[in-house]
Amino acid sequence: MYDSIIVGAGPAGMTAALYLLRSGKKVLLLESDSFGGQIASAPNVENYPGIPHMDGSDFADKLLSQVTDFGADIDVTRVGGIIKKDDFFDVITENGPVSGKTVIIAVGVKHRTLGIEGENNYYGKGISFCAVCDGPFYKGKVAAIVGGGNSAVQEALYLSDICANVHLIHRRDSFRAEKSLVENAKNKDNIIIHTDSVISSFIGENQIKGLTILNKRTSEVTDITCDVLFEAIGRIPENNIFSDLIELDGDGYVIAKENCATSCPGIFVAGDCRQKNIRQLTTAVADGSTAALAAVDFLN
Ligand SMILES: Cc1cc2nc3c(=O)[nH]c(=O)nc-3n(C[C@H](O)[C@H](O)[C@H](O)COP(=O)(O)OP(=O)(O)OC[C@H]3O[C@@H](n4cnc5c(N)ncnc54)[C@H](O)[C@@H]3O)c2cc1C
Repeated sequence: MYDSIIVGAGPAGMTAALYLLRSGKKVLLLESDSFGGQIASAPNVENYPGIPHMDGSDFADKLLSQVTDFGADIDVTRVGGIIKKDDFFDVITENGPVSGKTVIIAVGVKHRTLGIEGENNYYGKGISFCAVCDGPFYKGKVAAIVGGGNSAVQEALYLSDICANVHLIHRRDSFRAEKSLVENAKNKDNIIIHTDSVISSFIGENQIKGLTILNKRTSEVTDITCDVLFEAIGRIPENNIFSDLIELDGDGYVIAKENCATSCPGIFVAGDCRQKNIRQLTTAVADGSTAALAAVDFLN
């Protein structure tokens, strides 16, 4: 019987493990894919306080060593759900059920992608999912951003202060984003808005150099030059497997209190998979420590 079972070994889950282990608790860390989560695919992270430059995969490796050195048990297996027993939980994995007195859900999010042929080849080579993370690397350059919601327009505004020009590409004739944001974007001289338009292909051998855009209304095809494409077409939380026990919001994010407690006593949540405004490394590790210490209180 574990004191705590952590589902997902991204920055949030591994930080939670660290805090629980240092509080003397027995911890199992379950990961379906590779340890480190999303940050492991970030080659250059510049916004982690106190570390001016770091490779995300190095960070992930160090965090994993840190938690295993403190004695975490780990298993590579996908979690399929949680069953509540009287005073513990069975976590259902591909390798069978494991029991814990508390559970911390830290399964992160997946980014929705365009589904265009060859797209995978450009991840980290000019396609990014986070303007706040990667925008500053493109200072004075040309950025493109695809999407029509608040995130896309906010990111276009953010990039307009950093980049020479920003192409905002949206498939519909009007934006879903708040009117005031759209007005601000329209008033920026260096934001070029392409409505009714979809990206049909990428230009560039091993690095994004531009995009071919199809205007669906006029059928006009245009090539634009850009150094980076930010995809802001939505994130997909994968929390449905827990929805019989804990409350999710309308978008599928876990609803939690300030201390990361969910609606089910004994289950906590940390990181990108919970309802919040900012999804970053700093907020993920902050949640990890908060959830872990709340779990320690619960156990004690
Ligand atoms: C390319 C890229 C660059 C980024 N750059 C930066 C940056 O420079 N600065 C910054 O602050 N942030 C950056 N971010 C964002 C940052 O990485 C995330 O906010 C952070 O990783 C969230 O941590 P998390 O632990 O909540 O979730 P994740 O990192 O998503 O980790 C969740 C883990 O849970 C696992 N999992 C999911 N479902 C299951 C299941 N059912 N069973 C078991 N395991 C499961 C996943 O495989 C994953 O490993 C970047 C993101 C990306 C994609």
